[in-house]
Amino acid sequence: MADVVTGTRDSRGHWQPAEPHAGTPPPIWAWPPQPIKTLRFLFGYPGYLWPWNAITAAIVVVTWFYTQPELSRMAEFKFDWIAQIYVRNLALMLLFFGGFHVWLYTFRGQGTEHKYHPKWLGGKNSRFLGGTQLRENVFWSIASGCTVWTAYEVLMMWAYANGMLSYVDWETSPVYATLLLLFPMAWHIIHFYFGHRLLHWKPLYRAAHHLHHKNVNVGPWSGLSMHPIEHVIYFSLVLVYWIVPSHPIHVLFTLQFAALIPAVGHAGFNEFGKGKATLPGEFFHYLHHRYFECNYGAALVPLDRWFGTFHDGTPEAHAHMKKRWEAGFQSENETS
Ligand SMILES: [Zn+2]
Ligand SMILES: [Zn+2]
Repeated sequence: MADVVTGTRDSRGHWQPAEPHAGTPPPIWAWPPQPIKTLRFLFGYPGYLWPWNAITAAIVVVTWFYTQPELSRMAEFKFDWIAQIYVRNLALMLLFFGGFHVWLYTFRGQGTEHKYHPKWLGGKNSRFLGGTQLRENVFWSIASGCTVWTAYEVLMMWAYANGMLSYVDWETSPVYATLLLLFPMAWHIIHFYFGHRLLHWKPLYRAAHHLHHKNVNVGPWSGLSMHPIEHVIYFSLVLVYWIVPSHPIHVLFTLQFAALIPAVGHAGFNEFGKGKATLPGEFFHYLHHRYFECNYGAALVPLDRWFGTFHDGTPEAHAHMKKRWEAGFQSENETS
């Protein structure tokens, strides 16, 4: 099996990738600078553009040209165009999340190759809404996730249509508009890190974020299985365009990236596909679900390293997290 070549499985059956460990920051952060490696990271595979930025951009282009209501229609809140956006977003969600789930979990298309957790998602469990983890995950993703995602999109498009946002014309500012397409992925991680740390503040954790952490063994649909409060915080990243001049396509890109990429981050596999034709998954966030008090962001912007919340999957990092957790637990007991 290819996964014993590219990683290791411990005695309990948990798999993790071999070197480089999860969370190694990309060469853009290297000092002294590494220009060749940086270019390779930016344009090579896997890297900043390929595959996930490029795949999302392709989806955005198709949705923009074929499914987006005319901006002039969106100057007033009306049922028809809002429903059009909602149905389109729901279809994207079903295709993307559903596609990963059906291939990896229903058909078990690559077996347990590169699967982190030794077990499959469980069957009946009364802890979950509807009696299974999958049902609960799908419910929150659609009922709350798709609704909040659409609500932000509707607000932003309405604001563009009414001249409330600085509108960047693609024809007069092609360089700026193109460069701004590089922004959503990095911004997503920065915003996610701080929003996520806020959600681990006890009152918010109890009120909202605990719902997402019911998923220890994750699947694609766990990605957006969040409480509505968490969805409101999570998708608020798009409000940055009240300050940063942009075109509606940037809003679409930012929201679709935020909405769809959790399926990748929670798929539970390090790679999708077999042999050379693989797409990279994400180990970094899986460790957050397993160890809880670490890896709030993603490796691309090493905020976890800078703020001391980093876990790379090594036994040393695990020991460090354990010590930190025990220290926090003691101090909490002393003050209470
Ligand atoms: Zn969390
Ligand atoms: Zn998660």
